[in-house]
Amino acid sequence: RPVVRFEDVHFAYEPERPILRGLSFEIPAGQTVAVVGPSGAGKSTLARLLFRFYDVQQGRITIAGQDIRSVTQESLRRALGIVPQDTVLFNDTIAYNIAYGRPGASQAEVEAAARAAHIHDFIASTPKGYATLVGERGLKLSGGEKQRVAIARTLLKNPPILIFDEATSALDSANERAIQAELRSAAQGKTTLLIAHRLSTVVDAHEILVLEAGRIVERGTHAALLAQG
Ligand code: ADP
Ligand code: ADP
Repeated sequence: RPVVRFEDVHFAYEPERPILRGLSFEIPAGQTVAVVGPSGAGKSTLARLLFRFYDVQQGRITIAGQDIRSVTQESLRRALGIVPQDTVLFNDTIAYNIAYGRPGASQAEVEAAARAAHIHDFIASTPKGYATLVGERGLKLSGGEKQRVAIARTLLKNPPILIFDEATSALDSANERAIQAELRSAAQGKTTLLIAHRLSTVVDAHEILVLEAGRIVERGTHAALLAQG
């Protein structure tokens, strides 16, 4: 359960247009830090930097004290698990999609992850039932079901660090609440970066950062931020 630190992180896709302008924060081991803010604020960019899809241009990001530029791509990938907003699934079985991040996982492990993400009962109750999980191709899943597959995939991989990048924002409100409960249980004991659009969806984060135009403009617990108005 490593600590993740952003230290004075600056980043721009185009030189004359800074996106992140001196971000500093820490996600303590096993805790959840939420980042909220309007679209375009730089929230997803922050997640991309943690994955090293891009490198910071000033400052640094560390995991357990190590600059992420000095760790191998492979160990970085092992350390991080993401549930994105729009999960792209392969046109294959649910089992394949869940095991994608950990090829070689046993069928029992895949089933356990499916059960933990509460997708197992849902699948078993469909007309094709269990065959859909283990053998059948051609996925036709709703948004909420897809997100459950993404959560199961991440749970199977069991990374110490989780990133939820607006993982529920494409869902209707009933599904959003249900999937948020799944995310909360997946995040138990993990070092978690929770990216969200609205403050109301990150109530129990240990700290919430409000990002605007690439700067942290407010920070605190949910209660403290509400009290400030
Ligand atoms: P958020 O997740 O808060 O909505 P993003 O991090 O996705 O914000 O985007 C921040 C800004 O960076 C936006 O203005 C967006 O248009 C711009 N941006 C995002 N990706 C790219 C890219 N690949 N090239 C250029 N600009 C980008
Ligand atoms: P990691 O998450 O450590 O990169 P994965 O094996 O889970 O490793 O993913 C491999 C690649 O596929 C990564 O580039 C990741 O961003 C991307 N990816 C993983 N899951 C999804 C998903 N549900 N939707 C879209 N891209 C994904």
